[in-house]
Amino acid sequence: MSLDAAIGQVLSADLCTGCGFCAQLRPDIVMDLDDRGFGRPRIDSAQAPIADEQADQEALRRFETTCPGRTVAAPPAPKASEDNATFGRYLEAWQGWAADPALRHAGSSGGVLTALSTWLLESEQADAVVCAGQSPRVPAETAAFHLPDPAAVRTHTGSRYAPVANLELPVAATDVFIGKPCEAAALRAATSRQSAAPIILSFFCAGVPSQFATDRLITKLLGRDEPVESVRYRGDGWPGEFRFVTRSGQAVSCSYETSWGEHLGRDIQWRCKLCVDGTGGAADVAVGDYWNSSESGYPVFDDAPGRSVVLARTERGRALVLAAAAASVIHLEPVDVADVERGQPLQVRRKQTLFGRLLGTRAAGQRVPSYRGWGLLRLAVKNPRANLKAARRSSGRVKAASRD
Ligand SMILES: Cc1cc2nc3c(=O)[nH]c(=O)nc-3n(C[C@H](O)[C@H](O)[C@H](O)COP(=O)(O)OP(=O)(O)OC[C@H]3O[C@@H](n4cnc5c(N)ncnc54)[C@H](O)[C@@H]3O)c2cc1C
Ligand code: SF4
Ligand code: SF4
Repeated sequence: MSLDAAIGQVLSADLCTGCGFCAQLRPDIVMDLDDRGFGRPRIDSAQAPIADEQADQEALRRFETTCPGRTVAAPPAPKASEDNATFGRYLEAWQGWAADPALRHAGSSGGVLTALSTWLLESEQADAVVCAGQSPRVPAETAAFHLPDPAAVRTHTGSRYAPVANLELPVAATDVFIGKPCEAAALRAATSRQSAAPIILSFFCAGVPSQFATDRLITKLLGRDEPVESVRYRGDGWPGEFRFVTRSGQAVSCSYETSWGEHLGRDIQWRCKLCVDGTGGAADVAVGDYWNSSESGYPVFDDAPGRSVVLARTERGRALVLAAAAASVIHLEPVDVADVERGQPLQVRRKQTLFGRLLGTRAAGQRVPSYRGWGLLRLAVKNPRANLKAARRSSGRVKAASRD
């Protein structure tokens, strides 16, 4: 099989996460928005393809072991690690936030990712940070950046609920990589045989919405089409608001609950519904929202000083978090992981019923990624009804999509 054919299989089964790794394998593979508004690889015929069969086979080998549409390997279990059904393996867990109040306020939850990554640059433990932020070309879109300057990294706080391929950019062993869990898993797989690996930071991820969901939300809130100068999805408070400014200077906003709950979160790519690790299992450090829960057990999105849950996944990650706390870069407090689970109902449900969704998808004749060692069957046995329902729904979805 050729690399083109392997990418084609991932795309036709709708298993691409849009991570961008394959764009590193050949100069003629570029990331673009597809006709549904999701980031996907495309062959750019203006670029010279690799003519060499041996090079194509080597690229294919790397693709097969790295592309998260093909496989996501369960991370190795470090000694003395805890194992949680939703969050997987971790060495230590805290709640925390950036010690700098301005950064805590600007950040998505507690500004921890930005505090850690900028401190690593400032203390010369890393050369550059790979992260995501507002596209300089089309402000309503999101782009990946490779930044050696901490001040520039600080301008990219906040989650962006839109496609962006952080792995489209090459990542050196001396870099800090911030990305979605599937990007972290791909980078870990790609660097597993190297003597030195970048520091990998990730965050909890419920899924990537289509770019068109952002575009539609802007038009709906504004009541007309007009180009925008800036878009923030959240941050500047916790969770903060979805906010944009038009070229004519009009500022418009709506709550996180409205933007995510009623718009963006309803237009998520299919691959995210089959996500085996939405909590950064392959990262050195993974960070999520430490939401308060209501009496009914659902997260409460009242504006409050930002709080993140911080999971050290590796010894390197634990040492990094503890050193940052000792240097007063972040503030840490103990956390009960059972409380964190209560604030993450989507992550809990998605993991509990994933086996059923995979089974239903396979039964309807569609490929699924290879997920070995994640204990999904064990979880399914504990939740048989929910998995049966998920299997039926997924099979129905695949059949309906193939009829269209
Ligand atoms: C698509 C998406 C889904 C999410 N789903 C959940 C969820 O289910 N549960 C939950 O608790 N939290 C979720 N979050 C929020 C995320 O967990 C918080 O951003 C996290 O707590 C980090 O907060 P922070 O304040 O430390 O980050 P900050 O210091 O504000 O830094 C955020 C970093 O994330 C990077 N980034 C922003 N958007 C993207 C993107 N789309 N792709 C790659 N990198 C990006 C930025 O470059 C920045 O470096 C989601 C975020 C995104 C982008
Ligand atoms: S998941 Fe990533 S590596 Fe795989 S096809 Fe999509 S962009 Fe390429
Ligand atoms: S939900 Fe999973 S597959 Fe989707 S973008 Fe997030 S980490 Fe990647």
